[in-house]
Amino acid sequence: MKLNNPVTDIPLIGDAYFRKLKRLDIKTVGDLLLHIPTRFLDLSSTSKISEMKLNETATIIGQVISITNTYTKKGRIVQNAVLSDGRDTINIIWFGQHYLVKSISPGTLLSVAGKLGFWGRKKSIISPSFEKLDPGKETIHTGRLVPIYPETAGLTSKWLRSRINFALKNIKYPNEYLGDSELGGIKAISLPLSIKKIHLPKNLKEWEKARRRLGFEELVRLQKETIKKKKSWRKNKPFGKIKIKLKINEFSKTLPFKLTNSQNQAINEILSDLSRDMPMNRLLTGDVGSGKTVVAAAGIAVCLRNNLTSVLLAPTQILAEQHFNSLKKLLNLDKTDISLITSSRKGNPDSKVIIGTHSLLHKSKELRNIGLLIIDEQHRFGVEQRNILAQQRQVPHILTMTATPIPRTVALTLYGDLTISNLTEMPKGRKKITTWIVPSVKRKRAYKWVESEIKTHRTQAFVVCPLITESDKDSMKQVKAATKEREEISKLIPSLAIEVLHGRLPSMEKTKIINKFRKGKINLLVSTPVVEVGIDISNATIMIIEGADRFGLSQLHQLRGRVGRGDKKSYCLLFTESQSEKIITRLAAIKSIKTGRELAEMDLKLRGPGEVFGFKQHGIADLKIAKWTDINLIKQSKKYAEKMPKQSL
Ligand code: ADP
Ligand code: MG
Repeated sequence: MKLNNPVTDIPLIGDAYFRKLKRLDIKTVGDLLLHIPTRFLDLSSTSKISEMKLNETATIIGQVISITNTYTKKGRIVQNAVLSDGRDTINIIWFGQHYLVKSISPGTLLSVAGKLGFWGRKKSIISPSFEKLDPGKETIHTGRLVPIYPETAGLTSKWLRSRINFALKNIKYPNEYLGDSELGGIKAISLPLSIKKIHLPKNLKEWEKARRRLGFEELVRLQKETIKKKKSWRKNKPFGKIKIKLKINEFSKTLPFKLTNSQNQAINEILSDLSRDMPMNRLLTGDVGSGKTVVAAAGIAVCLRNNLTSVLLAPTQILAEQHFNSLKKLLNLDKTDISLITSSRKGNPDSKVIIGTHSLLHKSKELRNIGLLIIDEQHRFGVEQRNILAQQRQVPHILTMTATPIPRTVALTLYGDLTISNLTEMPKGRKKITTWIVPSVKRKRAYKWVESEIKTHRTQAFVVCPLITESDKDSMKQVKAATKEREEISKLIPSLAIEVLHGRLPSMEKTKIINKFRKGKINLLVSTPVVEVGIDISNATIMIIEGADRFGLSQLHQLRGRVGRGDKKSYCLLFTESQSEKIITRLAAIKSIKTGRELAEMDLKLRGPGEVFGFKQHGIADLKIAKWTDINLIKQSKKYAEKMPKQSL
């Protein structure tokens, strides 16, 4: 039996079981063998019957003296066996397994693992795991570390164990092709041994070594895919040639501020990418407010000189409008050069700079014959856009931008085909944002404070409503909550101009409200959680987040980043009704931690990577065997994959 044989080659796996196994993504014998246990039951210590203690789990080995079906008073059928270990006997009870009486005859040697309790007045082991013992045969369900697997309806760990055990015995193991020094380098045992020990280890140390070997295999496969993607992207030709270069000094001279060092570096990297005969695929990361837009503007500036079109896509219409206005100013463009295309505005598709929302990605007509494609706040980093552009003969240079920090291990694997520029510093002169946690008893007082702050300093405030569910950030429910919120706040501070902004408003209306806010005609803007990314209004200095405990730390940080952009002192108020110590501690973390990277790492620890990076939502398969924290293993897998490995599972 080989790893790529269908799993139905294993006895007792017919159509019905095959369908169930498919739910666990298991189709081949190899898939089954790489369905690895999530934990182990420690049934390794075997005891004498006399040593068993009430309510403790132990494994007993003994001979069956008798086994019968009996009925309880209520008419339930139970199996009652008596087991002897040579000195003492013990009663054993199973439920509803009448066939046992036929399959276990007196005299059979059994290994039984379970808890000692009472059946009526008799001390008994109730409903234990068990297996028949043949002399010299290794146990798999009892008397050892017993593997527990991810299960699905109708597939128990016990059943999986027995089928995996069959496969382990009959498999023709693949050869190990790593040398001893390579195995030593990743602290692992050989491939054939790993396949066995991942299921049936003597101890957890042995299991970890097996996991590392198989995890390495998994990572190398992932790395090879990434390398392939990278190579095939690089085979494309960029649309249009960049002949006239742009010097960074020329560009920065035109700006109203001095670029930070990391902005300078990122711009240099982008300009050098653009001058190559290979399309760029770069990801620009940088905390909220680090100034990613101006970096993108440099790319647009060089395309303009070369008479090539640039397209910038934003996640919301409001952001698209904001980019439109700020790029027009930054690059000193007039109406014919730059155009905004949204669901409500046709714009001029012949402009050399086109700003739109992500939905333009699906209208590939507009995306033809362009030199540079910039995608702001996009979290599917390159995957989708590459798919969309794949049919074209000539592709644009792509720059994706995000405030989500990418952990090193993810950058080295999943995003290994992207080159990454990172803005590590904030523009000078940013004021620290003071963050407070406000319990509900202080709510009224807090709003009174907001009122006086707004009046004395002529500043403005955002209020973000509680997140009802993550999946519908802008649902009707959410809209109702925002409207109600506004009424309540109006009662508390009737002298202020308050308006509601949410995604369900007609787009003209949205634009009107945002512009009024920008001009200072609205004091307090109540919004649904959708209005979180990218809004840049420097006179707003207060961010109020209602129901702050419903948000992830990184989300809170992004929201907080909406203020503190001008030279006035800024505040973030985290409202919560929760009194749970755990939640308050989590919120308190955001008071002291200032950077998105630190918070993302905390979120990673608290909520796990699948949640934080939304792998499932983005259709990215999570690692099954290796872990995202295995930085060394990941680095070595990359090195190995790059030198063309001989073979892999
Ligand atoms: P983000 O990285 O969150 O997209 P933006 O590009 O919106 O940040 O920039 C935030 C604000 O900082 C903008 O108002 C922008 O004009 C300003 N800004 C960008 N770079 C600098 C700089 N080097 N010095 C001062 N202000 C800057
Ligand atoms: Mg931005």
